[in-house]
Amino acid sequence: MKVAIIGAGLAGLTAAYELRDSGHDVDVYEATERIGGKLRTVAFAAGPTDMGAEAFMARRRDAVELFTELGLGPSLREPSGLGSLVWVDGETRPLPRGGIMGIPSSSEGVAHLVSAETAALIDAESSAPGFDWEIGGDVNVGKLVRSRYGDEVVDNIVSALLGGVYSCTADDLGVRATVPQLAEEFDRLAASGPVHLSEAVRNLEQARAELPTGQGAVFNAFRDGYQEVYEALAEKSGADIYVDAFISGIERAGEGYRLTGGEDTVYDRVILAVPAPTAALLLKKVAPAAAEALKPVKLADSVVVGMRFATDEGLPANSGVLVSSGASDVRAKAFTFASRKWPHLADRGGALVRASFGRFGDTIAVRASEDDLVDWALDDLQTITGFDGRAAGLEEIYVQRWFGGLPRYDEHHLATVAAVLDALSTEPGLSVTGAWVGGVGVPAVIAHAREVARAL
Ligand SMILES: Cc1cc2nc3c(=O)[nH]c(=O)nc-3n(C[C@H](O)[C@H](O)[C@H](O)COP(=O)(O)OP(=O)(O)OC[C@H]3O[C@@H](n4cnc5c(N)ncnc54)[C@H](O)[C@@H]3O)c2cc1C
Repeated sequence: MKVAIIGAGLAGLTAAYELRDSGHDVDVYEATERIGGKLRTVAFAAGPTDMGAEAFMARRRDAVELFTELGLGPSLREPSGLGSLVWVDGETRPLPRGGIMGIPSSSEGVAHLVSAETAALIDAESSAPGFDWEIGGDVNVGKLVRSRYGDEVVDNIVSALLGGVYSCTADDLGVRATVPQLAEEFDRLAASGPVHLSEAVRNLEQARAELPTGQGAVFNAFRDGYQEVYEALAEKSGADIYVDAFISGIERAGEGYRLTGGEDTVYDRVILAVPAPTAALLLKKVAPAAAEALKPVKLADSVVVGMRFATDEGLPANSGVLVSSGASDVRAKAFTFASRKWPHLADRGGALVRASFGRFGDTIAVRASEDDLVDWALDDLQTITGFDGRAAGLEEIYVQRWFGGLPRYDEHHLATVAAVLDALSTEPGLSVTGAWVGGVGVPAVIAHAREVARAL
């Protein structure tokens, strides 16, 4: 069969790799001049440095399996394990380690991040009337947690944590869409009546405590950054990869499809591995119902500013700091002290820091100039940590804008994806994959792309 894959990000390249020995003839089309999409490693003088994703959840065996298959096992690196901070009310405080995505089961681990009134509210939640939960349904994370624990838990903790993964505050995210284990626990509890948030979180904490220990670090990174992954996938896929090849339409051609902007060929199968709004445009003629169903999926813009300093003296001994969504004294939403977090980056000497800006709805990625972004990154870093980056010798800077960096996983997202897949089920020649379909994390993107390729 002739197969076209549109998009050479992680999903498209993984699908191409999965098809390597299938006997199919695979062409991959990438709109930009480079492969990798949101995985992007740039050449700093001190070594390759990630400007998009920088780590992955190593407890997901499917991702580790793929990386090992690719021969990248020796490149995997573990973090230092240093704790992270949160910037709340003008000071840094330790990020709570318990709870589920920052949602606590009691005030114990979060009392240093909320007022005494909020701490009392958290502890009284189990004796307040429970809430009704529709089994299998979804609700807004922010709305639910605010209604049970008050605003501070959301603004100071949960939005900071979820924002680090989804570039959205808790008010733009769904519980099942982003913390599925919590939704599943609600399902279980709801079978016998109204639900309490603290009980559900406590049950999950207990289940976690019973897991076997000694499984290694939760997160891993690559010695030379994600370029190791996207280059290996591209090379080992054996596919023909066309860069600077923007596909602007899909037309039916007999039993197959022709791509506007692609080779003059009829494809038996097309895999769309592009962000949701692009997929909606491309599906418009060939699968109008799926295109229409996809419309509600919106994207969050963000910016990463990578900075390398001559010295790390004065940089806190932490992995990074998340900024509470309520903070108005700084513009950044997070800093990763990459050379503290990753020993292999510390070995390069000096200090490597990544500043992140932008949550869903912000226009910062579009409107801010590069100079402003660097100034804000340095100013905010100094405000939060006291580390004077200008005095520490700023040796290298890279500003990476991520337009449409991540899809918004709100409380309607899973139903939207189900509707799109349902509408596509009558079009066996077309499939979709990527961060908006099966989850935004690297392991989730890999797992879904492999599944789609295998089904083909
Ligand atoms: C700043 C940032 C940090 C992140 N950090 C982490 C992390 O540490 N760990 C983690 O697990 N995940 C992280 N993620 C998430 C993860 O990187 C992404 O979810 C994943 O890389 C997305 O892969 P994808 O292939 O679905 O999409 P993309 O990477 O967006 O790939 C889609 C590709 O399609 C191309 N394309 C679009 N339109 C067309 C067209 N019309 N024709 C041809 N090509 C087209 C694009 O140019 C792009 O290359 C992060 C994401 C961002 C933005």
